[in-house]
Amino acid sequence: MARRLAQLAALPVTQLRGVGPKYAEALERAFEIETVLDLLTHYPRRYIDRTNLQAIRDLRVGDEVMVMATVRRISGRRTRGARGRRPMALVTAEVADPSGGHLQVVFFNQGWRERQLPAGAECILFGKVTENRGRLQMANPLVDLVGTQTGKIVAVYPQSEKERLTSSDLSRWMTEVLERAGEFAEAVPEQVLDRLDLIDRTSAFRTVHLPETMGEATAARKRLVFDELLRVQLALVLRKRALERASTGLVHRIGPGPAGEPDLVSAFHERLSFPLTGAQRRAIAEIDADLAGPHPMHRLLQGDVGAGKTVVAVSALLVAVQNGHQGALMAPTEVLAEQHHLGIKALLEGFTIGDGGTSLFGERPLRVELLTNRVTPTERRRILEQLAAGDVDLLIGTHALIQEAVEFRSLGAVVIDEQHRFGVEQRAALRDKSGGEHTPDVLVMTATPIPRTAAMTVYGDLDVSVLDELPPGRTPIDTIWIRTPGDAEADDPAVAAAEAPVWDHVRTEVAAGRQAYVVCPLVDESEKLEVRSATDTFERLSAGELTGLRVGLLHGRVPSADKEVVMDQFRRRDLDVLVATTVIEVGVDVPNATVMVILDADRFGIAQLHQLRGRVGRGSATSRCYLVGAATTREAEERLAAMVRTTDGFELAEIDLDLRGEGTLMAERQKGRNDLKLASLRRDRVWVERAREVAFELVDADPQLADHPLLREEVDLFLGEDEADFLLKS
Ligand code: ADP
Ligand code: MG
Repeated sequence: MARRLAQLAALPVTQLRGVGPKYAEALERAFEIETVLDLLTHYPRRYIDRTNLQAIRDLRVGDEVMVMATVRRISGRRTRGARGRRPMALVTAEVADPSGGHLQVVFFNQGWRERQLPAGAECILFGKVTENRGRLQMANPLVDLVGTQTGKIVAVYPQSEKERLTSSDLSRWMTEVLERAGEFAEAVPEQVLDRLDLIDRTSAFRTVHLPETMGEATAARKRLVFDELLRVQLALVLRKRALERASTGLVHRIGPGPAGEPDLVSAFHERLSFPLTGAQRRAIAEIDADLAGPHPMHRLLQGDVGAGKTVVAVSALLVAVQNGHQGALMAPTEVLAEQHHLGIKALLEGFTIGDGGTSLFGERPLRVELLTNRVTPTERRRILEQLAAGDVDLLIGTHALIQEAVEFRSLGAVVIDEQHRFGVEQRAALRDKSGGEHTPDVLVMTATPIPRTAAMTVYGDLDVSVLDELPPGRTPIDTIWIRTPGDAEADDPAVAAAEAPVWDHVRTEVAAGRQAYVVCPLVDESEKLEVRSATDTFERLSAGELTGLRVGLLHGRVPSADKEVVMDQFRRRDLDVLVATTVIEVGVDVPNATVMVILDADRFGIAQLHQLRGRVGRGSATSRCYLVGAATTREAEERLAAMVRTTDGFELAEIDLDLRGEGTLMAERQKGRNDLKLASLRRDRVWVERAREVAFELVDADPQLADHPLLREEVDLFLGEDEADFLLKS
């Protein structure tokens, strides 16, 4: 009987001959390995091709080499901290290989090496050959403990110094697992494997751990990467289809009505002072197709900052309105909700809709209302009543719109600005609010683009539209990185000197009638400190560098009534400079602002920096963004350099994914186990797309995966039972 992965998942590692309770605990602590399956999927970090090993006897000073050697002697001591230097651990070893050569290896500040490399240990060393008093030496080489392995290719596993788990321990156990497991049951249909030129599962597990050539290891990796991605995509596609089955959507009419009723959406487009971009037209067409279809829309609209998502969103909402339903728009903050309310009200000024014959003219003005916590109780009661009666057409507010006792007469479409967590439960909540048996159509808009393949994985149960084109005539934003000394205090004169040109530029722009933002350091996990730092900066600049200018302050602790007052003053140009925390991050739209100063920019992520920068460059004047900060880490350096190099949000998203890895992205949405041990959303982009295609193919031919019980079992196994239960049964 061929072995199923679920069987291996039921076997504790102690079932292996080589693994007793002590090792089992160590494996758990070091790698969360509990079962034989966990062990089998603890993949090599890399491989060493032993034909690339060099003989110690042939080494020359200056070579970068890899040698395999046996430790002869090792000893450690602490140096004296002479001449103001700190004392440190110094470990010296003598290693030799069968060529008869000897090499001295020294480790600085790595006292533990003495324990790791006792005399007799076999290791592989990578490093540069130097000379010390006429002897060949290697200082702080990379070390892999691989034991005496005979194959030409040696797998190197993630190991744990702390738990004393070496790569050679892991390969020994892996060999045992593979021998005892024998044949693996094949979960993926043969025709899929053939088409994608993938090897069978038994060979894949064997050769990922014990390859004879590098080519074999690569083919094995490819197959196992596909399996991981296929499981994730199957779960997502199953969820997507299950939701479609479980919900009834409204079928909206697009375009003018049968009796010649006017088409609100076309009228809206004609009223705009600009033509739609090609990308906007494409996205609107994709959305229209969803709205006209029987299933509720669940679509993600990705678009760079300033790409014009609002117009697309309003177009979708108007389709619902002209079909006799209502629309809702949820913004992430009150400031944004208020701004959207103003903007959308202005866009729809003077529009009328049919009132079902209750008035003399048969129509009434289209009504857009705002509902936030700032609305007075009386006002609130009025809005809620009119909403239930169907007299309000578009409701704009924060996320609270769907959480509170808000009842629509018939909610047709919902737009969620920003990538809120919007899962199964929220969709159920929407259905309850819709005023009918239907689930409203939902459009989720990302504030920041994420790479396509990442979107497919993280938001894989959504359809995706992309605005990959900015409206014409945008003037590019100059981005300048003002490097400050890495370890400087805020009042360091060197910082003041570095910043001086920034404040000069702000003054020049203000003198020319423009406005500026100053964004203050983000203080992790302490709103109080964040508020203090913004307040300090506000006071320092008002009394110093920006004295004489009208400076305002905005942060999370400003009461919302005052927040609105400050925003209003800034919009009306009663303020020249707005000092703020990241409350202004998303969506704030003041085209007259031409300077964005981000202090301690090294503390922000790429996505945030890009969002903040997007607050300027909204008008026709040239804008500038100053990133003030130190290259505190290599990553910070790369982030800031990338910001200077490009303003393309999609490109920045790719760089961000490269820098941060997918872990952070996945963690945001993925429940249960993260199955991506080998696959990388960056390196394996094409495999993400292929896996998604195959997932659609399989699920659409066989919605419960009844003909693929093994795949079904594996989706279950890797994604958690509750999740799989929901997907496969609903
Ligand atoms: P975002 O995608 O960041 O939400 P917005 O919808 O706020 O972008 O649009 C940014 C600005 O671009 C707004 O001032 C809007 O009026 C303008 N805009 C939108 N579409 C176009 C277009 N096709 N041509 C010119 N300007 C446009
Ligand atoms: Mg927007």
